[in-house]
This record gives sequence, structure tokens and C-alpha cells, in this order.
Amino acid sequence: MSFKADLHCHSCYSDGTNTPTELIDLAIEVGLSGLSITDHDTVEGYKEALPYAKEKNFPLLTGIEFSASYKGEPIHVLGYGIDLESEELLTLCVRHQKRRFQRNQAILIKLKKLGHSIEMEDLKATGKIVGRPHIALALMERGVVSSVKEAFDKLLGEGKAAYTPGEVVSVEETLETIHQAEGKAIIAHPHLIRKKSTFRKMLEYPFDGLEGYYARMPLSREREFLNIGKERKWIITGGSDYHGSVKPQAALGTSWVDEETFNVLCK
Ligand code: AMP
Ligand code: FE
Ligand code: FE
Ligand code: ZN
Repeated sequence: MSFKADLHCHSCYSDGTNTPTELIDLAIEVGLSGLSITDHDTVEGYKEALPYAKEKNFPLLTGIEFSASYKGEPIHVLGYGIDLESEELLTLCVRHQKRRFQRNQAILIKLKKLGHSIEMEDLKATGKIVGRPHIALALMERGVVSSVKEAFDKLLGEGKAAYTPGEVVSVEETLETIHQAEGKAIIAHPHLIRKKSTFRKMLEYPFDGLEGYYARMPLSREREFLNIGKERKWIITGGSDYHGSVKPQAALGTSWVDEETFNVLCK
């Protein structure tokens, strides 16, 4: 079987439902040759993932998916091959924890005004990263909505009644932090950037690559991004963005990179 490494998935340390150990077991089960766990704004899962990958002799690339924003539009930035002990990286992770805490408070106040009373303690998170999917699950538990998607469509998505953007972390400082941690910075799921002008602006920043292979990206967009990436001699990455049962649309291993790309990022 050919080499396939899925470079985008989430564990329960952010908004996925699998533990890091389960993700590695699943990667082996579906025949992957490598993996990167890219939790939102945290590398906490690697405390569990690294020793387990070593025990299984399974190639694991360090990774993270940072939440940034440009002129009000969310931009997700993947960082690969990062030093997990980088002070700058850990400082940005803590800043995101604080940003999320304040933002979640504001979202819960809005929900309360709408008649949906949820307390911070009701949000079930394994680690320190608590996001809208955790709020969506609490809304589901109360029977306010019947799916996470419905919670986003009706209440939590951009522009909906309980939406709150929260403190902004710029793309510049995110890129600087990833580079300080000796990692490569990649534009995540570029097709989800809505404004053409925002994407053009991103091309002016010192990214090292873009995520050209992504489960559920339309083929025409894939071609567009592969061309842009090749033109710039960027690293083209790929991954499923698997979140487990909370977002069952894309299974682990449905997008991947080859051995050459994996090795470039491991350096
Ligand atoms: P947050 O990090 O708190 O801003 O929440 C964003 C996360 O929510 C994304 O990374 C996705 O995992 C998830 N998400 C965003 N939009 C939707 C949606 N429409 N349906 C389900 N999950 C979503
Ligand atoms: Fe997510
Ligand atoms: Fe993302
Ligand atoms: Zn993701």
C-alpha cells in the first residue's frame, strides 16, 4: 500500500471526540502511514500522543491549528513540525485559552437572553480549549437543537443571534509564532475563506504552504489552489479535518499527503 499521511484531525483536547491514543489507533486501523493531530490552539494532546506513537512505532508529525482573523473573517492557520516546548507557541496557546474563556462567557450571556440557560460548568471539555462545538453539544443535551450543525445554523454560526467574534489574533502574529517554534505555516481549508480579497491578502503573508487536499473541497477549487501552491513553490498539504462523532462527515484518512511531503514537514 502506498504511503498516506493525514495531516489534519482533532482530538478531545480541542473539539474532536477521540482521544489522541484513539486517533493513532484509528490511523493504524485505516492503513495510514503517518498522522498529524492539529488541535485548535493547543498542543496538550501531544503529552499523550507522542509516547503512544513511539510505543507503536507510528510516524507522528507535531501540529496545531491556530484560530486567527483578518478584518473580521476567521482564518485558520496550520503549524507543522513545531517545537512543542517553544515559549512563544505556548504563550499564544494561553492567550487563546483566555480569549476563548471571555468569548464563551459572552456567547452564554447571549444564549441566556434568548432563553437558553447554559452555565460554563455545563460545557464538557477534556482540556483547556473550549469552543462553540462544546456549546452546541450542551444545547443538544437540552433539546434546544437536534444536531451540532443546527446549533451553528440557528445560533452559533457567524452572524447568528449568539455569535460573538471574541478577541482578535492576527495572521501576522500567528505566522511569527509558528516560525519562532521552527514550524511551517499553512493556510488551512483555503476554500472556506469567503472573500477573494482576503485570500489575495493571505498570499502576501509569509506562509509556507496551503492545504490543497481537503475532504469535501470541490474539485474545481482544489485545482485552483494546487496551481497557486505550485506557482509559489509552496508545500501543499492535505488532511481530513476529522473531528470524530461530533462532525461525522469526513472519516480519518479521506485526504492525505505522500511520503515526500510528510518528510519535508518533519524536518
Ligand atoms: P470555535 O473554534 O469556537 O470558533 O468553533 C469553530 C469550530 O466549530 C470549527 O473548527 C468546527 O470544528 C466547528 N464548526 C464550525 N462551523 C460549524 C458548522 N456549521 N457545523 C458544525 N461544526 C462547525
Ligand atoms: Fe474544529
Ligand atoms: Fe479549521
Ligand atoms: Zn480543523
